[in-house]
Amino acid sequence: MTDPLQPAQGFSTRAIHAGQEPDPTTGAVVPPIYAVSTYKQDGIGGLRGGYEYSRSANPTRTALEECFAALEGGERGFAFASGLAGQDTVLRALLQPGDHLVVPSDAYGGTYRLINRVARPWGVEHSIAKVADVDSVRAAVRPGRTRMIWVETPTNPLLGIADISALAEVAHEAGALLVVDNTFASPYLQQPLALGADVVTHSTTKYAGGHSDVVGGAVVTRSGAVTASGESVSERIAFHQNAMGAVAGPFDAWLVLRGLKTLAVRMERHCDNAERVVEFLLGHDGVRAVHYPGLPGHVNHEVAARQMRRFGGMVSFQVRGGEDVATKVCAETQLWTLGESLGGVESLIEHPGRMTHASVAGTELEVPGDLIRLSVGIEDVEDLIEDLKQALDRLT
Ligand SMILES: *Cc1c(COP(=O)(O)O)cnc(C)c1O
Repeated sequence: MTDPLQPAQGFSTRAIHAGQEPDPTTGAVVPPIYAVSTYKQDGIGGLRGGYEYSRSANPTRTALEECFAALEGGERGFAFASGLAGQDTVLRALLQPGDHLVVPSDAYGGTYRLINRVARPWGVEHSIAKVADVDSVRAAVRPGRTRMIWVETPTNPLLGIADISALAEVAHEAGALLVVDNTFASPYLQQPLALGADVVTHSTTKYAGGHSDVVGGAVVTRSGAVTASGESVSERIAFHQNAMGAVAGPFDAWLVLRGLKTLAVRMERHCDNAERVVEFLLGHDGVRAVHYPGLPGHVNHEVAARQMRRFGGMVSFQVRGGEDVATKVCAETQLWTLGESLGGVESLIEHPGRMTHASVAGTELEVPGDLIRLSVGIEDVEDLIEDLKQALDRLT
């Protein structure tokens, strides 16, 4: 077992080795894909390494869970079949009917749908707050009832920034837990647990997997985090992961584990390319606003600079000419693939209003029609800029 907190080792060393000792039988340097459902017992209850049935635990998934815990500096890691499966498990493990949670005004559309259309009918109420503004979050807290503050930072798709340590204080004063969706930053750029968050969630479909070839989720808990009734957050989530059963399969776990090995180098290149794309967009007449936490003019640039290593590979911008022009730009790029999702090696372009955020149209989370979101990949940046330029020159 790898100690999830090894301060002596750097990020990439942990990404490549944590939870991944060479196979004891063969010496294979990569954990095998344990395509197996059940395990031989040496007499009743004589489990080898605790393995009994693969919903409860599977060695490939264990490797990923230990690696994720090490990368986020957490107590325990949990791997799920999707980001939303992990989030659903967090909500049901840590809240019960009658509880209240605070959610961000520009959350991932699927997260909001889960909270509004699954958790709410189940009896959990929510209030929406602007997470970039700590006072707005404090005002949304209902004393004695709010048990969770949910934060995404950077946010999707407007790249808003929430101050994780300030919100951890607001949550803890209220007897609530702070959950941070760290998908956009990845553990390489941001470490929410060290800033006081109690739980981190990821869609590993995005930067963690990194190659657009797997759907998955991860959850990591802070050491010693407890619920308002004093129960261990890790224990609650472990129980619910097994009881609800939305686990990552061994092949999916293996793909995410492979992705994690190169996370640091990929993130550096995503950031380099995003900075160059931002610079290009700022200089283009057809662009009326650029959203990127690395810009000094960004509302919470200072906070981002404090809590992030760099500013990430996601960029969004608004074009002159409204929704019509925005949708045409998305259709005119060649190298930037029109598609949902993000965080892969290939660059993607999308129109949030009609695509990823269509499910929040007509709610407080609706996004501007002239907004375009970019997931900047790791191709040669000159080619990426040239392709954006031809589309923008023609249409704006
Ligand atoms: C994609 C995404 C999710 C949902 O994850 P799935 O793997 O699609 O279930 C949650 N949060 C953020 C920020 C995302 O980008």
